Amino acid sequence: AAKNAGKNQYALFTSDLREDRLERTRLTIGLRRALAAGELVLNYQPVVDLASGDIRKVEALLRWSPPGSRPVPPDVFIPIAEESGLIVPIGTWVLEQACADAGRWYEQHGVSVTVNISGRQLREPDFAETVLDILARHRLPEHALVLEITESMLLATTPAETVRIIAALTTLREHGVRVALDDFGTGYSSLSYLRTLPVDILKIDKSFLPPSGHADHHQMRAFTKAIVELSASLGLNVIVEGVETPEQAALLQQMGCPQAQGYLFSPPVAARQVDGLLAVTPWQQVA
Ligand code: C2E
Ligand code: MG
Ligand code: MG
Ligand code: MG
Repeated sequence: AAKNAGKNQYALFTSDLREDRLERTRLTIGLRRALAAGELVLNYQPVVDLASGDIRKVEALLRWSPPGSRPVPPDVFIPIAEESGLIVPIGTWVLEQACADAGRWYEQHGVSVTVNISGRQLREPDFAETVLDILARHRLPEHALVLEITESMLLATTPAETVRIIAALTTLREHGVRVALDDFGTGYSSLSYLRTLPVDILKIDKSFLPPSGHADHHQMRAFTKAIVELSASLGLNVIVEGVETPEQAALLQQMGCPQAQGYLFSPPVAARQVDGLLAVTPWQQVA
């Protein structure tokens, strides 16, 4: 077997590539159909104020279950939507749906909605106008919307595009829309992006949390504390993602972290379940 290994590996490699391409094409077609057929769904996950236990925001998270098969995770279909450009119409649909759902939550509970935006959407020349138009049509105040962007979206942009993205975000912020930097700490040169990107909120990635059962892990603690302090001194709000245990929540609260999100408080839920969550907060676990 060893003497054929080189050749066989090559054959295996090309057929893997072919299958991968086929799978991507299949998913792209399925996704386009899903958007047209209204099969995409938004779930919402609460962002909780650690001191009071109140829900302050809900993050819209896209869900796709092709009829007759298992749900496809966003980490699989979002990159495919980005490659094919489908993320632009899908992203517009997400914004429309999130703003439609959020009106009542904002009116009755002062809760904002936070929406993930991909780099491809931000590079659309009319992105800011599209967002402001959607807000106006749904009569949602600008302050009720947070846009989540990532550092990595800037990797594929030319300097001219970066300038345009920053201009669009600046326009939106002038109107009161807030911008959050998502997955903070997972990219690189995070600190230099913080100087150039107009942001209001840092969402610290869950990889920064001490694993459950190791809540006093020294290095993690030091990192998180440093980020919380840096953010405060820059006037930024902080949300820590992926909080799963009461120990993690207590530690974050000690470190002065204002808000958190994670399975401890709630998994992402269907829109109609959000009203129930808003009715029963504050959370007893957090108090
Ligand atoms: P993200 O924006 O960083 O969202 C947080 C992810 O962490 C979500 O995964 C959420 O379900 C998960 N999560 C929440 N709490 C916990 C926890 O306590 N522990 C752990 N282990 N995970 C937790 P999800 O829904 O699978 O989404 C994955 C990613 O897909 C998102 O990461 C976001 O980057 C992207 N995505 C989701 N919806 C959209 C969308 O509408 N548009 C765009 N462009 N991207 C989206
Ligand atoms: Mg996010
Ligand atoms: Mg994140
Ligand atoms: Mg992410």
